[in-house]
Amino acid sequence: MLSVQEAFRLILETVIPIAPHQCSLFEADHKVLAAGTVSDVNVPPFDKALMDGFAVRSTDLIDGNATLQILETIYAGSVPTLPLQAGQTSQIMTGAPLPEGADAVVQIEHCKINEEQQSVQIETSPVSPGKNMLYHASILERGAPVLEAGTLLRAQEIGALAETGSPFVSVRRPPSLSILATGDELVAPEDAPQVGQIRNSNEVMLYTQVLQSHAHPVPLGIARDERNHLREKINEGLKCDFLLLSGGVSAGTLDLVPSELQAAGVRQVFHKVDLKPGKPLWFGLLEQENRAPCYIFGLPGNPVSSMVCFELFVRSAIRQFMGFPSPKPAPLEARLKSDFQTRGNRPTYQPAMVEWESGEAVVTPLMTMGSADLRSTVAANAVALFPSGNQLFQEGLKVETFLW
Ligand code: AMP
Ligand code: MG
Repeated sequence: MLSVQEAFRLILETVIPIAPHQCSLFEADHKVLAAGTVSDVNVPPFDKALMDGFAVRSTDLIDGNATLQILETIYAGSVPTLPLQAGQTSQIMTGAPLPEGADAVVQIEHCKINEEQQSVQIETSPVSPGKNMLYHASILERGAPVLEAGTLLRAQEIGALAETGSPFVSVRRPPSLSILATGDELVAPEDAPQVGQIRNSNEVMLYTQVLQSHAHPVPLGIARDERNHLREKINEGLKCDFLLLSGGVSAGTLDLVPSELQAAGVRQVFHKVDLKPGKPLWFGLLEQENRAPCYIFGLPGNPVSSMVCFELFVRSAIRQFMGFPSPKPAPLEARLKSDFQTRGNRPTYQPAMVEWESGEAVVTPLMTMGSADLRSTVAANAVALFPSGNQLFQEGLKVETFLW
């Protein structure tokens, strides 16, 4: 059976990052930068006051005390007109350019102004050059790189792009993902299950996982385990960048998803992966003329398997689509907080709770009754990885975890 590592490799080989487009910074939230940017200005563009107060020559205030002659008042957005000579100062506001000759700002709280004599008496601690100011270009020089390709754009990155003269940027957008639950036993969460029925928990769970990836979920409801209905729904789902199917990919006689996908022209890349939970995972793509492929995941119907497979594989595929430089989940080493017994011949990705104790990650694998036991994952914020085999992993051992 395909290993998890091979499954990752095949997914990342198959999913091609979407073509970049230009967007304004108002539309850039949680898109990924497709080309690096450089600054078209020095930051700050001038020696800049960081406090309201008086611009001074630090040599006038070596001991912190002086009475200085006031030349002018400099506001943010204005330009100083008079250079400071020894014994002179200008009142200055936060964000305003320092006058020539000044190399520090004294806070207004330490200044007593004498209006009649056009002077100010300063009593403060010794002033050294650079106090309460930023030197011209000390943060960034014109032409210097600001953000690299592959950067996720959040509020602070978007602000930095605005500051450095990139009001439009080349980005990759998050994908749309249609979600199709399959199964004759399923009823909607608002319905009371009759004998033999269960509620469709996977659809809304996948919907939420897609939203948490900052991508666009398109829920398609429930497809019956019947070829015509399933086919109709699959064709609808193939209009998105991704189609996520839940259930119908294992070995039951009504597990029609793989054959119906094939009938719709979808090429299978793999079926079944060597992990627990999640073994029935199916992945393929539909190549289409004049448009990007649609990528299809057939996720196992058992809710914990669905959850784990999304976090490991679907999330990585979304990140690859958006052009992240490291799309795979990053491992975090954590110390086992309690013993854990593995069973079976597949690597286990056990829902787990990672906490921090004195700066160290510690992990508690959650006790579950298997991949149908969604309730046990309520405290989970990660999975912990254990190799295959029947083995007792003792408290204190280091294991790999993957945060959700
Ligand atoms: P399947 O892969 O279709 O055989 O489904 C495996 C198990 O997952 C069965 O017990 C199903 O009833 C359950 N299951 C399938 N789809 C869902 C769903 N959307 N929500 C909750 N459980 C499901
Ligand atoms: Mg089913």
